[in-house]
Amino acid sequence: MIVGVDYYPEHWPEDRWERDAELMEEAGIGLVRLAEFAWSKMEPEEGSFNFDWLDRAMEVLYSRGIEVVLGTPTAAPPAWIIEEDRSILPVDENGDREGFGARRHYCPNHPRYREHTRRIVKAMGERFGGDPRLVGWQLDNEFSGRCYCDYCKEAFQDWLKEKYGSLEELNEEWGTIFWSQEYGEWEEIPLPTTRARAHNPGLHLDYYRFSSDSWVDYQDLQLEALRPTLGDERVTHNFMFAGFTGIDYSELGEELDFLSWDNYPLISGEPRTERAAAAHDLARGLGGTGFWVMEEQSGPSGWNVVSATPRPGQIKLWSYQALARGADGIVFFRWRTCRVGTEQYWHGVLDHHGEPGRRYDEVKEFAREMEEVGKEITPDRVPVEVALIKDYETGWAFEIQPNSTELDYEEEGLAHYHGFHRLNVPLDVITPGEDFSDYGALIAPNLYLVNEELRKRLERFVRGGGTLILSYRSGVKESRNNKVVNQLLPGELRQLVGAHVEEYTTLGGSPWGEGKAGEGPAIEFLPHPLGSMSGRARVWADRLKLDRARPLALYRSGPWEGEPAASINEYGAGTVIYLGSGLPRNMHRGLAYWLKERMELSGAAETPAGVEAVWRGEGDEAVLYLLNHNAEEVTLSLQEDLKELKSGERREEITLSPYGVALFRR
Ligand SMILES: [Zn+2]
Repeated sequence: MIVGVDYYPEHWPEDRWERDAELMEEAGIGLVRLAEFAWSKMEPEEGSFNFDWLDRAMEVLYSRGIEVVLGTPTAAPPAWIIEEDRSILPVDENGDREGFGARRHYCPNHPRYREHTRRIVKAMGERFGGDPRLVGWQLDNEFSGRCYCDYCKEAFQDWLKEKYGSLEELNEEWGTIFWSQEYGEWEEIPLPTTRARAHNPGLHLDYYRFSSDSWVDYQDLQLEALRPTLGDERVTHNFMFAGFTGIDYSELGEELDFLSWDNYPLISGEPRTERAAAAHDLARGLGGTGFWVMEEQSGPSGWNVVSATPRPGQIKLWSYQALARGADGIVFFRWRTCRVGTEQYWHGVLDHHGEPGRRYDEVKEFAREMEEVGKEITPDRVPVEVALIKDYETGWAFEIQPNSTELDYEEEGLAHYHGFHRLNVPLDVITPGEDFSDYGALIAPNLYLVNEELRKRLERFVRGGGTLILSYRSGVKESRNNKVVNQLLPGELRQLVGAHVEEYTTLGGSPWGEGKAGEGPAIEFLPHPLGSMSGRARVWADRLKLDRARPLALYRSGPWEGEPAASINEYGAGTVIYLGSGLPRNMHRGLAYWLKERMELSGAAETPAGVEAVWRGEGDEAVLYLLNHNAEEVTLSLQEDLKELKSGERREEITLSPYGVALFRR
């Protein structure tokens, strides 16, 4: 179990380092991440390396038992690199080249920048690879963005050659006959910039795929430069889940030794408790347990405007939430709030003045608790029977064509997640390429892009007894080319669903909307099996015709009153549920409740709103985490006789303090 901090010794005079290391040691910090943006200090001019300061910083830390993760600094190319060739700066969707002055200002496909990258990564590896003070490496920082420069254009055209083989094939697949877009030379193919108002959806989606592949390829370049120099260190990249959807993380994670991500639950408004839970479940779904939070919020955060300060207990609470869901490492961002630069107000464990305060004490308390129970409370597995499918490509296709002004693929996934999260039924969030066989139920909201292979895998899953939940706008497109299918919807999935879509309507600002924007006709789940549960359709509505399926819900108002709004179909030994519209949250909770009962899904007992209950581990090893995200004290009964770890007492009831955590074993 790792407790660390992100530390930037280069921001502070060297005579302060000793004091920092001393305070870290006193707080029980066992790891620091260093150097992720320190390129100008490590290589002040091309080929002239200065790693001695970093070596000295590592020595100061290591002498107090603090180990190191080194970051490659490529997210912040220094001015001399850019001055030499300004075409390294990325070009945005509007065709404007970015300027120097922030970070992430480079194109991953730029040949000269790739040379610079190879050189600095290799030099760092040659100097520090295999160093006993090191436990790992982090490549770059939070990969993101799409570049629209001429190098990317050329690389995209090559990527298309590889994918389609011939222009005849490409023209056919994209349907370039539409608006006279047939291409006679590869060089004619444009990038989907805003210079044209609405691009061919096939081209557009392929560009997003290419862009994701470009980051995977750029990461591979760093891995190739670094790997030969390594000893036992493990390599990671710090993913960003909230709002960062441009890279298929299942592909980015494939070559990494472990997965890590950056968690800031409190950026604006209320803490994003449920979203953070879903992001942890995605980290686990992508890479299993044992992931790290490489940046865990430890203070008010923001660049020019600051978020609220984490209330007493919240820093620990968010850390325990990560552990409950499979993390084995928490690295707090950042050690000390810096006095300079864009992130002057992105606060860390220490404030600007560098004296320990309330947040330092909380981190210290967490580290002490990890020293005592860290190993015991982080067994290898989180038992899960249900998976929620998140398909990055489907997300991109909806980004290009949202279908409805109200459709947000991320939010729809989270709406499904909400029902299960509220009931403490654990979910893995996975991508469609993962093995389905470990799960009893799969939730695949808005599965827009489908190919034959995915259809077959879903059929096999259901035939073998699995329960599959699909919803509107599924099976609409052929995955390869983003073409609309030549079949009744839901296309490839029709046999599974046992029903088809007769017609459909958006509920986004149309006359179908009754009341608030995005709301539509009343729908009601039929008394059996969901009890009388009703609400208004959201986002979209399908008019369903049943082939073999039975109705699961009916429209209760509007032109389709009395017709099915959702269906249920027995297929092989399994069941397929199709939801013809978006559901309000109460209906998602009802649906999750029904599935939990019907499938006898395991999980923790139900808890009051704002309290999470999560089991990590199985059998004798299992640990129950109770996490109170409320500002008030909460008392709850445990529904079974459990031993509290802290007191060692067996209890049937527990009172959790505001933002309090309690751990139990059977
Ligand atoms: Zn580019």
